[in-house]
Amino acid sequence: MSSEQRWNQLRAIRGDTRVVGVFGWPVEHSLSPAMHNAAFNALGLPYLYIPFPVRPEDIGPAIRSLNVLGVIGVNLTIPHKESVLPFLDSVTTEAKNVGAVNTVHCVDGKLLGDNTDGRGFIKPLEELGFESAGKRVLVLGAGGAARSVVFRLATEGAHVTITNRTRERAEKLAADVIKTGINSDSIAVVDAEDNPSLYEAARNSNLIVHTTRIGMYPENDAMPSIEIDALHSDMIVYDLIYNPIKTKLLKAAEMKGCRTISGVKMLVTQGAAAFERWTGIWPPVDIMETAVVQSLNG
Ligand code: NAP
Repeated sequence: MSSEQRWNQLRAIRGDTRVVGVFGWPVEHSLSPAMHNAAFNALGLPYLYIPFPVRPEDIGPAIRSLNVLGVIGVNLTIPHKESVLPFLDSVTTEAKNVGAVNTVHCVDGKLLGDNTDGRGFIKPLEELGFESAGKRVLVLGAGGAARSVVFRLATEGAHVTITNRTRERAEKLAADVIKTGINSDSIAVVDAEDNPSLYEAARNSNLIVHTTRIGMYPENDAMPSIEIDALHSDMIVYDLIYNPIKTKLLKAAEMKGCRTISGVKMLVTQGAAAFERWTGIWPPVDIMETAVVQSLNG
């Protein structure tokens, strides 16, 4: 960037510039500043998105300082998504169910916690014409991201089967979903070692969602343990991993004729939902996606 371009950027920061950002530890690799600032710039909005390196033990004072400083809101990433909960004034039902907050909005001196991962997950599916009600979905993994995915799918009427290396975590997730009033027939757990049942569940699924870390950079050659033969052209395979943009699983699914969705779509859409909460405006997601892809390729 030339010094003139840089100066033009800095000159845009004025007394009435509104600040949003992300709390994480570490936070250097976050893609959120690039995608949000690209959208603010495209819309000519006087906002600036800043990364805040907040140590795990400092989350309380850091989040409480937002109203004092006039910050509009923040995203939360590892390790703050759960530990922030006791410091908020209220949380949305979705964030409460999932047990994690990824977006905080400061409203009238109060801190409202939300979780936009579920919306970020479902919208790219809807854009492919997928309607969850009555569909069979296999979810690989039962960590934090899987919780948002499973709650959203189950709430929308899908039949969800979960499998996870640590079976107890999958069972806990299924039990938490049932506690919210979802019919227990709509959610099942299959043991990660039970290959015949897994094959059947995969083969009969309309959608397979991969939510583990297997295949994430730098382990790009790793594959979650799923029988590729079970994949077919009537299903969608969705990998939450966004780096690499196209995982080994997605490449294999494409070879089998499946429609695929990369985690980049979810990353951008959950960011767009936070953006909308803070500004009241749905942002240009294509511009946000370009900024993410450029950062990943950069
Ligand atoms: P997490 O809470 O730590 O959960 C990790 C999951 O991966 C658990 O199910 C864990 O199983 C499983 N796992 C990890 N290593 C494994 C291995 N070697 N073999 C089998 N299973 C393994 O992490 P998370 O926050 O849910 O994130 C998971 C993935 O989703 C990451 O790749 C992350 O980048 C991605 N993600 C994407 C978005 C997006 O917007 N696209 C948003 C959130 C997360 P155990 O329970 O047995 O440990």
